[in-house]
Amino acid sequence: MTPRAKVGGLADVVAALTKEMARFGHDTRILMPKYGSMQPEPTWESLSAPLDVHISPPEQARLWQCPHDSGATELFLEHDELYGLQEVYLPNRDNTNRFVFLCRAVIDYCHQTGWFPDVIHCHDWMSGLVPVYLNTTEVDGPLHVAASVFTIHNMQHQGEASPGLLTTAGLPQHLMNPDGIAHNGRVNMLKAGIYHATKVTTVSPNYAREVQTPAYGWGLNEALHNREKDTIGILNGVDTDEWNPATDPTLPANFSLDDLSGKAICKQALQERFDLEVDASIPVYAAIARLYSQKGLDLLAEILDGLMHDMKIQIVILGSGDPALEEAFQNAAERYPGRVGCFIGYDSKLSHLIEAGADFFIMPSRFEPCGLNQMYSMAYGTLPIVRETGGLLDSVQQYQPLKEEGTGFRFAEASAAALYHTIGWSCAVWYDQPEEIAKLRQRAMKRDASWAHSARLYQDVYLWAIDTRLRGLGILKDSRTPFTLPAVPSR
Ligand code: ADP
Repeated sequence: MTPRAKVGGLADVVAALTKEMARFGHDTRILMPKYGSMQPEPTWESLSAPLDVHISPPEQARLWQCPHDSGATELFLEHDELYGLQEVYLPNRDNTNRFVFLCRAVIDYCHQTGWFPDVIHCHDWMSGLVPVYLNTTEVDGPLHVAASVFTIHNMQHQGEASPGLLTTAGLPQHLMNPDGIAHNGRVNMLKAGIYHATKVTTVSPNYAREVQTPAYGWGLNEALHNREKDTIGILNGVDTDEWNPATDPTLPANFSLDDLSGKAICKQALQERFDLEVDASIPVYAAIARLYSQKGLDLLAEILDGLMHDMKIQIVILGSGDPALEEAFQNAAERYPGRVGCFIGYDSKLSHLIEAGADFFIMPSRFEPCGLNQMYSMAYGTLPIVRETGGLLDSVQQYQPLKEEGTGFRFAEASAAALYHTIGWSCAVWYDQPEEIAKLRQRAMKRDASWAHSARLYQDVYLWAIDTRLRGLGILKDSRTPFTLPAVPSR
């Protein structure tokens, strides 16, 4: 959860949702590991008794509690051997043991403190065993009425391990079933969450459909298809406390729909920051991402020379990841001084300046469960150029001049040619029809991106999950019609 620890969008979502749920008045508690990068602060309080975590063999951990600004409670699980390093996910290592411990700690925290929530909301494979405990070891205890909601932020990472993991987890071996948590003879923590959760959500409606297909299901499309009736996609919102061009304290100038003069100042600062030619008339195209195949920026690297040759544009890249791609962009910056800028690394402040100063934002993702940067871009009047996949399709409206519609430029095929043509299209509109760019910008900035709408949908999902859970247990038997969710429109 940002700002405690962040790898990608999941951290932003958990933080935003925490704030909104506390605002609705719910007693909300977040439990996450205390990673090596997190140091105790004066507001942290160490719980007097250590937490007994009933994995096999049992172990103890220290638990820190701290009030979140919103009124929620943060809980940090300290276990140096498991979480003492800086990284959230340890590269080239089996991380499953670390997160089995987290899953069990959630259950044991409830027992030890006597706090039994109505719903436990789990995120990605790292929390996939929590719904399994609720359906197995907890059936005779006070937690058995707790419903679970499992949110998939990314299907690619699944938390796979040998069947011995079940023994460590203190779970019965009969769960090792292909119609349950076993996949290709291994324990699969993502599948465990999908199979056992009361309700499943994905971070966009379109991704909920895509993951049921072989192309996007990463081998678990059937498991998801089997849970179709209990699955819903909810598009992420934007945390406007952090991403609002009118108040963003990291920018050299603020701006809004009514007065875009600050955006021009940000563009100039961006051009200066990357030693680009300072010229307001040249469009700046930007990309910020983890440089891995998912994000499709290899397609941009492939056409970079062509773009530089054919179009009068500038390009700025911020990211890190695949060394070959890092090198490709660094080389491009050297080959095209004044026209291509590149920063390899993670820099949150710089990402704000890029979103504010750029004119277009490039996201040619091969898959994108939701994607946040296209939404930040639109809020900052920077027009997204996206591939039609996952949440990119749900959030970016295609430019259609005759209908006076659109908040960006979309293309369907994950190919360098399709990306090249779409950048060319946007560049032609920039130079030939600046009034159209202004209108696109207005529409993009007007888009309602706040979390309020999505958070209300999550609250509905919690109610839906509680209703289903209690009915399943025979506790709710009345003739009331079961809780149903309203249809979720794309935004
Ligand atoms: P994912 O979760 O797949 O990485 P998202 O678009 O959902 O993709 O979220 C990525 C988040 O991480 C965004 O907030 C983005 O601004 C941020 N981000 C990614 N790479 C960097 C970087 N190199 N520097 C700063 N922020 C970054």
